[in-house]
Order: sequence, then structure tokens, then C-alpha cells
Amino acid sequence: MNKESVVQTLTTTSSLHVGLIGDPVAHSYSPPMQQAAFDTLGIPARYELWQTSTEALIERVRSLCSEEYLGANVTIPHKEAVLALMDEVDPLATRIGAVNTIVHQDGYLHGYNTDAPGLLYALHEHGVGTVQKNGTISLKEHTAILLGAGGAARGAAFALAGAHVARLIIVNRNLERAQLLAAEVQQTYNGPVFSLNDPQFLVPSRATLIINATSVGMHGEHTPLPAEILARFDSDTFVYDMIYNPTQTQLLCQALIMGMRGVNGLSMLLHQGALAFTLWTGKPAPLDVMRSKLFNL
Ligand code: NAP
Repeated sequence: MNKESVVQTLTTTSSLHVGLIGDPVAHSYSPPMQQAAFDTLGIPARYELWQTSTEALIERVRSLCSEEYLGANVTIPHKEAVLALMDEVDPLATRIGAVNTIVHQDGYLHGYNTDAPGLLYALHEHGVGTVQKNGTISLKEHTAILLGAGGAARGAAFALAGAHVARLIIVNRNLERAQLLAAEVQQTYNGPVFSLNDPQFLVPSRATLIINATSVGMHGEHTPLPAEILARFDSDTFVYDMIYNPTQTQLLCQALIMGMRGVNGLSMLLHQGALAFTLWTGKPAPLDVMRSKLFNL
């Protein structure tokens, strides 16, 4: 049975469930955004918060095999661990090594990563990149500087490489982690990949895309890129900060003061959520409804 018929069959008989597996989950913006989408399409599903410890993870994930569950989103710290609990994992999620969306179908669990394409859709929405004839997004005119080498950065690195950035430079406090990620990306990407742990060595180039995938800035403290280094780059530099709470980090403030364009991570949250919604339901996500809910929280 395909996903659409599962939704159609169940909507006539019972209430469906989908939720966020993580620890912590209380801060998440996903419930209002996803609930608005389900309500708009008349799908009687509830998007719930499933606070889940590491010890409870296996039981939580296997419970999704019951027919009333559409699936789940997964967040910190379980994105890597759930991969091994899936019946099938999408090739992109396998390469990234992280699953953020679980889809339940006929008693089987399928793992996907929508963070990576979500970032590309977000960048495109902000005018960065071009859509190719085959529908994929190309960033071949851009040099990408990726700050971080954790879970979110891994998705970003594979997404940027898949969008054929001209060069990828991974900057991370832990150099070994950056080198490891660079080596993994390099296996399927023809362009040059560099890894650094000190942003002092960054050399400015045109059409640069700076993406913050570190957690630095979440608590209003510091910036992952000192202002004097950011100042080396042209005003056509685009800065994307995956952090969306606070809505304006120190990095974004500095970029804007320097005349660069800078955007927070809400658009990525929107697009990863819309892709997940379609995977669960087989229906196009009501993007405008989700956007309006998210941007008015
Ligand atoms: P993670 O796996 O814990 O990775 C954290 C990263 O931040 C690592 O690269 C770490 O470097 C770096 N870092 C942490 N503290 C640092 C410090 N004091 N100085 C320098 N570097 C530091 O976390 P994640 O899942 O990748 O998430 C990263 C950020 O992305 C979070 O703010 C998260 O909210 C955001 N995010 C947003 C979206 C969205 O939809 N907008 C989606 C996913 C994630 P080391 O390797 O050296 O420890």
C-alpha cells in the first residue's frame, strides 16, 4: 500500500501520530509548524514531543511500527544512533551517517535525512544557487566555508558537495573531525575540499557562502568567525547561520553591519520539515501555511 492510501485508509478510522524523538525536545518549533500542515490538509494526525533518553531509544523507535504511527523526526542526540534501527536507510542519509526523518510503512521503518536538501532549498529561497533542468540545485559558482563538523555540518557538507560548490572549506575547532569529514566528502566529490581548525588561515574569495553549522551563538555568546576575519570578505558574501533561536546571532549582526546578506536557520527548519511531511503523507506540504506558522511564533 502506498503512503497516500495509508493516510486515506487511516484517516477514516483513527487518529494518527507523528512526533519528535530527542533529548531535549521542549524547545522545538516543529510541533506548531507540522500541526498547521496536518490541520490544513485535514489529516487527523497529532505531532507530539517524545522526550527520549538513550536507554529508551530502541523501544521508542520500534513502537513506530504500529499502524497509527506515520513516523517521526529525530534530533540531538539520536540522529546517528537511529540509523542502525531502521529497516532501510536512504543512500544520502547513509553517506551523511544521520537520520532526521523516520517513515513508517507497512510495519517497516525507513530512514531519511531531510536536513541536507532542506539547507539547499533554504539557500535557493534566499537567491543562492540555481535550479538545474533535473530539478537539483547548483552552487557551482560559490566557494563554501562550512563552520563546524558535527551532525548538522555533516549534512551540509554532503549537500554542498552534491550541489557542486567550486570549493569546500571545512573549519572546525576539532581539526581531526574536520579532516575526517573532508575525506568522506572527497570520496564522491570532484572539487577541492580543505579542512582547518583556525579561521585565521581563511583567504577571501568572491561569491563566498559562509554557513555556520556550529552551536556557537545559540546562547548569545561569541561568534564562530571573528569579525576581523569576516571583514576580509566582499560584501557579496552570503552568510547562513543554521541557528534560529536567537533569530539574530552575533555572526549575522556583524555580517549585516559589513553590508553582507545574512539569514538565520528558520528557512532550513521549514524546508526540512516540509520534506519530512511529504515523506510521511505522500502529499505536497502546504509550505505557505508552515512558513506563516513558523515565522510568527
Ligand atoms: P553537534 O553535532 O553537537 O556539533 C556542534 C558543532 O559545534 C561541532 O562542530 C563543534 O565543534 C562546534 N562547537 C561547539 N561548541 C564550540 C565552541 N565553543 N567553539 C567552537 N566550536 C564549537 O550539533 P549539530 O547537531 O551539528 O547542531 C549544530 C547547530 O546547528 C545547532 O545550533 C543546531 O540548533 C543547528 N541546527 C539547525 C538546523 C535548522 O534546521 N536550522 C538543523 C540542524 C541543526 P567540535 O567538533 O570541535 O566539538
